Amino acid sequence: MNPISVVKVWVAKIVDKKATQALVKGLSEIQPVLHHLKRVKNQGGELKIIIGLMENSAVECKQKLVSQGLQLEGLDLLENWEKIEVAQCLPQTRSQYDMASKLWPCNFHEDKTIEKLLTGSWFTSRQLEMKFKWMQLSLAISHLPDNVFTWHENCGVKLAEDLFNGSNQVAPSTSACMGPSMGVVVVNPSGDAVIAAASVRKALHPLHHAVMIAVDLVARRQGGGALPLTEGFNVKEESINEPNSYLCTDCEIYLTHEPCIMCCMSLLHSRAKTVFFIENCSGGGLVSEARLHTLPTINHRFQVFKGLGPV
Ligand SMILES: [Zn+2]
Repeated sequence: MNPISVVKVWVAKIVDKKATQALVKGLSEIQPVLHHLKRVKNQGGELKIIIGLMENSAVECKQKLVSQGLQLEGLDLLENWEKIEVAQCLPQTRSQYDMASKLWPCNFHEDKTIEKLLTGSWFTSRQLEMKFKWMQLSLAISHLPDNVFTWHENCGVKLAEDLFNGSNQVAPSTSACMGPSMGVVVVNPSGDAVIAAASVRKALHPLHHAVMIAVDLVARRQGGGALPLTEGFNVKEESINEPNSYLCTDCEIYLTHEPCIMCCMSLLHSRAKTVFFIENCSGGGLVSEARLHTLPTINHRFQVFKGLGPV
């Protein structure tokens, strides 16, 4: 349940219902605020109208409206004006709408994406179960620095369980991609198998960030690859895919730490679909230094979720 913010307004009864339309039109023109609220409320046959924000006394409010040219004929006496609380902003969820409309009638345009995210129904329980496993795998890998891993389809879960023993702590936050511990897992578009996984390997090269290695491993599965990776690297012939337009199209990426801007750009260029990470890092390109995936000038978007840490 997400609470709503409220604001106080002056409300008056409309004693001459014929004046309603003119009052609504006049008030809306000089007070372009609170558009998310209905201006008039029918309460047991009585019409009540929002006069304006309660920034001043009722007398001052009335004087201001008159000075702005509003005709107040048809309203109840000033001494009968009421102070009430209304929702300050347009409700974002059904529960917020229910709370807001109890205060005063308001507009609501349901956003199913926001609704699912806030109510925890964006992923199914089965999907969440798998995502926890992939994140656990990235955690386990993060504790095995200077190694590179690849897997065949469908064997990732077992390896995750094997590796996970006692390795459920995220290393403390550092500058993005500068720490000694970071794990990356790339999962196929179906979300059920690991395509590539990597840990930090910067002892061999300063630009061998875990994400860069993981993307390069995906490229190798598709017959490419640019980094001079040799040790601990193994791709069998039957696991090499047909070349795709982009390396990680529709793939999920699981990271123990927020990556640097270079690595985020790599994920953008390779068309990752969803990125999960646990730990914020200064200089990171997802939330800390920038939100690259939201920039209006880029030609690809991916979803970012923070969490899915140890349970
Ligand atoms: Zn990086």
